[in-house]
This record gives sequence, structure tokens and C-alpha cells, in this order.
Amino acid sequence: MSLTTYWLEHAWLDTNVEPGVTLAVSDGRITAVRTGVDTPPPGAVVLRGLTIPGLSNAHSHAFHRALRGTVQVGSGTFWTWREVMYTVAQRLTPDSYFALARAVYAEMALAGITSVGEFHYLHHAPGGTPYADPNAMGEALIAAAAEAGIRITLLDTAYLSSGFGAAPDKHQLRFTDGTAEKWAERVSALKERDGVRIGAAIHSVRAVPADQLSTVARWAQDREAPLHVHLSEQTAENDACLAAHGLTPTQLLAEHGVLGPRTTGVHNTHLTDGDIALLGTSTTGTCMCPTTERDLADGIGPAVALQRAGSPLSLGSDSHAVIDLLEEARAMELNERLRTRTRGHWTAAALLRAATVDGHAALGWADAGTLEAGALADFTTIALDTVRTAGPLPRLAAETAVFAASAADVRHTVVAGRHVVRDGVHHSVPDVAGALADSIAALRG
Ligand SMILES: [Zn+2]
Repeated sequence: MSLTTYWLEHAWLDTNVEPGVTLAVSDGRITAVRTGVDTPPPGAVVLRGLTIPGLSNAHSHAFHRALRGTVQVGSGTFWTWREVMYTVAQRLTPDSYFALARAVYAEMALAGITSVGEFHYLHHAPGGTPYADPNAMGEALIAAAAEAGIRITLLDTAYLSSGFGAAPDKHQLRFTDGTAEKWAERVSALKERDGVRIGAAIHSVRAVPADQLSTVARWAQDREAPLHVHLSEQTAENDACLAAHGLTPTQLLAEHGVLGPRTTGVHNTHLTDGDIALLGTSTTGTCMCPTTERDLADGIGPAVALQRAGSPLSLGSDSHAVIDLLEEARAMELNERLRTRTRGHWTAAALLRAATVDGHAALGWADAGTLEAGALADFTTIALDTVRTAGPLPRLAAETAVFAASAADVRHTVVAGRHVVRDGVHHSVPDVAGALADSIAALRG
């Protein structure tokens, strides 16, 4: 049993920043935390800056990273953006997806992210033919996360319909298993292992017929697995759901047993007061993806009202317009400031909780996201001596990190007690930018 001691120049301990903290780490877990340690003990690994628990990226579609830049030319809506996204999806194979995802997850590690929730629906070969291993694409993502050194919750996604009973279109043939039962059969073959959780997802009320929602919900419930669903990102989805069922998407999910404490609605943008009450009283989580929501001109979701009603908040970089959880955290607060013309809806501590402990809980990692004895030894250190972060008093380091730092200020990322990023360099993907450029160029053909 190896024992490593880390000395943290400053550490965020849930509500406040403490100077001089040691973490004892053994077998991938924190075994002891000591405060008031002014100088590094002999042999300790020194982490200068502010160390916080590892960041959780609760909503990702890894292949959307290939669209960065490309989709900023011209105008349009979510729906025109989706057409471009589908053309990239068509080109991916298990090998090319592994190469891309390995680079994307390495970019996440550089940004201080220690776990990702991969909302995965690109299951089959073009035309819809299953691969020899029907989970080849999911296994490629799991292998990519392992190579990049971060934890993954593979949220294997049921995607069966192009909308309220319509057959999948030609792009969506790669996504569909035909029925929710066939989806469950395929997903049941995926095995959890070190650093890997298997969860479920319902793509949306558009993509899973109402009479099959409970099959997915039951699969997740039987395994006590996380269940995620894109919810009311677009008003067009709400209108179509009301026309088809006479219910809002949230009401439809409630009626079919989808809501609950292990369920997370992603976006939750266009909700009625009744929807907010349903999500809150069932303690269904909300994953906000502010940089994607603003990029796709979705609108601003009612995160304050949702949290007040009882819905825990998590954050995701979703389409990877940027990969920066600190930016996601401050964007949630800043969006609310613009909408209300008042400040201070969340403290820096509350925003960090969404980005760490509550994000991990949404992905089924109940023992991660805090710096305390017994927790997984996942943490990240933000430099306080860069042009963005130098100046403020150390006791304001959390405020500085959340409201001024960026992913570029992340100095170290440690997962399960292993240094994945040291001094800004990834341990197993030394040239992350090159890996991104090469894997994306290969998709262009
Ligand atoms: Zn999404």
C-alpha cells in the first residue's frame, strides 16, 4: 500500500479556503486531511496555487469537439447546427472515435476535469448495422477516457425515433436499437470497471416513444444507475410534445416514472412553473450547459428556481464550443445577472459545489468531489500567479478561480492519486493540441 502526502498551498474545503493543507492519499483515496501546515513536510508533493476537488463535466458529446470553429460561420438555429453535427457523426468509426475522444478527454484533464458524463448515442455502423461488438463505439469511449486518465460515466443513450412516432431519419439509423428492449439488451452487456460507470440516457421525449420511456427508466432503477435526459432545450420540442400527448415533456417523463433522485434533466431551459415543481419535488437534477446554450441560442434556463424547488445543479460542456468548467460555473451566475439585473445569485462556493460534488453525484460518483478523508483522491490545482489570477488576497482564491481563471490556469490534475496533468502537461498525451488537430483532420478526409 503506497502512501503519498500532498501539501496544498491553498485548499478549498467546501466552504472556505485554507492555507497550508496536507492530504494523505493511499490506494486512490484521501485517508487524512490536516490544516494549518505552514511548510511542506519532507517528501510531500507540493501543489502551489488553489487546490479544489476534481471538476465533473456532467454532459458531453465528445464528437461535437470536431465542430469547433466550423459551426461559427453564418447564421441559423439549433436545428441548422444539428445538420452540420450529423455530417460529422456519419464519418466516425470505433477507431477514429477513439482517437478523437482520447484527445478531447485529454483536453478535459488539462482543464481540471476528472470525470465526464458521456451522453452517447452513436452506437452502430452507418446505415444502422451493428458492429461485431454491438458496443464497439461505447468501448472506444471507455478506452479513450482510460488513456486520458479521467473517470467516465458512459450514459448509453436510447434514441429510437426522429420525433413523436416518426421513424429515424437516415442520419439517425446509427443511433437506434429499434426498441427500448433491444437497447436494454445491448447496454446490459457493458461492464463497469475501475474508473468506469455505466448509466442510461433517454435522448429526449422526441427520440424515445412515450410507451418505451419506462423500459429505460426501469433499467436504470434496477441498477441504481444514473439516468439523464435532454429536457425542454427547445420550445419546438415542447410544442410537439403538447400536440402529441397533451403534456409538457416534464409531465410526460413524470407520468412514465422517469423523474427521481438519480435522474438528471439536461438543459431544462423552457419550463412551466408546474414543470419546475415536478422536477424539484422529485429531486431530479438539472445539468446546465451555459456555454452551449448561449452558443446555440437556446435561451437561459431557470436554474435559480429549479435549485430553490429542490433540483441539484450540475454543469456540462455539452457541445464543447469551449471546454472550461470554470467558465460554465460563472456563466450560470452571469446569465442570471443579465436576466435579472441583480448580482449574487450563487456564491463562488455554491458554483464550485455544482462543478464538483453535485456534478459527481449526478454521474454516480457519490464518493468524489470533496477534499475529505474517505473520498476518491481526485483534485485539481489552479495557479494563482498568472496574469488572470495574480493580485487578489489568498482568502479570495475561490472567487478568483470561479470569476477570473480559465482552463489555461489549471496546473495539476490528480485522479485516483495519480498525477494526470503535472505543471500543465498531460502525462500520457504529451501533445494534446496535436492529437486534437490530427484526429479532427482525419474526419475531414
Ligand atoms: Zn447534449
